[in-house]
Amino acid sequence: MSGGLDSTLAARILQEQGVEVVGVHFSTGFCVSDHKRATASVQEDPRKLRNEALRAGADLKIPVRMVDLSEDYLEVVFNPKHGYGAHMNPCIDCRTHMLKKAKAIMEEEGADFVATGEVLGQRPMSQRKDPMRVIQRESGLGDRLLRPLSAQLLEATAPEREGLLDRSKLLSIRGRGRRVQMDLVEARGITDYPSPAGGCCFLTDENYTRKFRDKMTHRGKERMGWEDVALLKVGRHFRISPTLKLVLGRREEENLFLERFTAGRVRLEAAAVKGPVAITDESLPSEAEEALCAAIVARYSDGRELDAVEIRASGGDREERIRRVAPLLDETILAPMRL
Ligand code: SF4
Repeated sequence: MSGGLDSTLAARILQEQGVEVVGVHFSTGFCVSDHKRATASVQEDPRKLRNEALRAGADLKIPVRMVDLSEDYLEVVFNPKHGYGAHMNPCIDCRTHMLKKAKAIMEEEGADFVATGEVLGQRPMSQRKDPMRVIQRESGLGDRLLRPLSAQLLEATAPEREGLLDRSKLLSIRGRGRRVQMDLVEARGITDYPSPAGGCCFLTDENYTRKFRDKMTHRGKERMGWEDVALLKVGRHFRISPTLKLVLGRREEENLFLERFTAGRVRLEAAAVKGPVAITDESLPSEAEEALCAAIVARYSDGRELDAVEIRASGGDREERIRRVAPLLDETILAPMRL
């Protein structure tokens, strides 16, 4: 249950048949909405920051179990048996992974089946008939996996055959459009749901996955962890050398986010003018590399028009120091480093 249109409607359709529903919400560590909450400005509209799965649970009057998948999820991202979608989204393996966990929860709850908000033909990678069958098989759920929104277009499942559900009251929605689902939820009095458009997963984001691939190449999958994944979500990224990166905050909330990662890194910030917080990543910079990083930080500070800007550097097993550097304005040097 993401709390979006489809999972909300799927749960409501089951409730209408008298099924007691327990929502299960998975966090992969790559959820855009989780990250937005972590870096939101205090001025942000709180409605945009709420957890939609919990909101849907409240609307439907059902409990929602929040499940953190991140522990073994990186392995799914690095080695997907069924490959990637348009970017680094391993959707078939990801859904299989989620549904294996859902199966364990089904057994723990003593439930009869697992239902999802999947719609046949809605997503090119994981919501076609063949991959849907693969997910059904590899998750171990088999015919205990029901897709209420497209059920009439798919083979009958165990709960339908056993008479727990009336198949004729399940739906036959197909394709990418959302009009049918919107009309159906609104007819049921649910009007406050998130917009169905918009990416919800960093692994489908071109900018994010470009930085992720760079990280895999230079740091290596075996050394990557959740700190790497988190840092790629914010800021401007520059590759200074095969073993050194620089990350600059683009706004106050990103600066605050970067402050959490200063341990074991060099932190840079303009000393006398406003500018971004920056941290180095992957290794500690040499003197020359630190000077280059300082020039980039100066370029993004309010002193970019000045001949020289003072940049305060700290960390890296050395005393705090101030460097006077010329802002690096030369795009022929800067552009190739920008990720
Ligand atoms: S978009 Fe992301 S979260 Fe959704 S199935 Fe694909 S990899 Fe998993």
